[in-house]
Amino acid sequence: LSVWSNVQAGPPDAILGITEAFKADKDPRKINLGVGAYRDENGKPYILPSVQKAEEIVLASVPNKEYLPITGLPEFTRNAALLAYGTESTPLKEGAVAVTQSISGTGALRIGGEFLARHYPKSKDIFLPAPTWGNHIPLFRDSGLNVRSYRYFNKETVGLDFAGLKADLEAAPEGAIVLLHACAHNPTGIDPTPEQWAQISDIVKEKKLFPFFDMAYQGFASGSTTKDAFAVRHFVEQGHQVALSQSFAKNMGLYGERVGAFSVTTADAAEKARVDSQLKIIIRPMYSNPPVNGARIANAILSNADLYTQWESEVKGMADRIISMREKLYNSLQKELNTPGEWGHIKSQIGMFSFTGLNPSQTKALAEKAHVYMTHDGRISMAGLNGGNIEYFAQSVDKAVR
Ligand code: PMP
Repeated sequence: LSVWSNVQAGPPDAILGITEAFKADKDPRKINLGVGAYRDENGKPYILPSVQKAEEIVLASVPNKEYLPITGLPEFTRNAALLAYGTESTPLKEGAVAVTQSISGTGALRIGGEFLARHYPKSKDIFLPAPTWGNHIPLFRDSGLNVRSYRYFNKETVGLDFAGLKADLEAAPEGAIVLLHACAHNPTGIDPTPEQWAQISDIVKEKKLFPFFDMAYQGFASGSTTKDAFAVRHFVEQGHQVALSQSFAKNMGLYGERVGAFSVTTADAAEKARVDSQLKIIIRPMYSNPPVNGARIANAILSNADLYTQWESEVKGMADRIISMREKLYNSLQKELNTPGEWGHIKSQIGMFSFTGLNPSQTKALAEKAHVYMTHDGRISMAGLNGGNIEYFAQSVDKAVR
């Protein structure tokens, strides 16, 4: 008898399972809108030209393959923090931001979860928006936190349930942790307005909640890295101490390079040094130190004014292409096909995803009859649409809802 004979088969990953089904489908019209990875107008993965240049710069410097420090490449983490908090950030100027490189956004969230579970004194409860990125739930549970939720999505309006969000944060136990998607909320594509962020900040202050921002899409939502950092910077300006997860997967297209950062704002340089020491104690037994290549690439962009400018325009290019697909899809469904229902949310939503409002039986029919794959909750990756497949997609949706 094998020692593993008691191991039960677990369920497949909800999102990566879709890619399997897509790969097995032989129909030439097939479309994969499941996974959140940017595709160009030909449906191909996109390597940003600024990233290609950065790779050349890195290679030309003939870098060695030595280990990085436990918290990563210092120039990279300094520049990543500047990108998020801004050059005018008070805690950055005071040397009071503890920051570590991470294995992309997922690794940053996990370091954050572990750090809060060990050192946050007031609560083990973390409130996540409903719905949220699916991986948030097991990630924070495995970190040792109690996962709870606050209302976020209003099914009726296919918009933000702002009244529900406020009521749930007001009713949260004092000191609880609240996870906020900094921009381009996944899966809904619905973000609070700046005025609503200001109100959320007030509630967080009044209830002494602890804000943990997940910023996986800086630049990807609006096309501007500054605009997309509004919520994080507003909270810091309002005097909140924050935790922040950053990912360079989407905005630099560095998915498989696994480049990210986790940071917390602290009272002063001495406190920062103590927090740094504890981050190292968390990281060292997990993976010792992070991979070096992606951080060098990202840092080559962040530290070179010309490349940085080029990169910003390429991020805007990706955001703009997605926005133009939203416009096209809305026009096809609402105006040309007269598809039953109201489709304005496709245009008003932001970022990589659109929460279409399609139900599980419609998404199933789309996969089986039209070879169009998306998550069962009706989320589509807008980046999977292009001039060549958007008409077919709109017609398929039209058929599925009639
Ligand atoms: N947070 C959110 C909201 C995400 O959508 C993602 C990627 N899908 C991540 C974090 C982490 O991604 P990665 O680990 O690839 O940076």
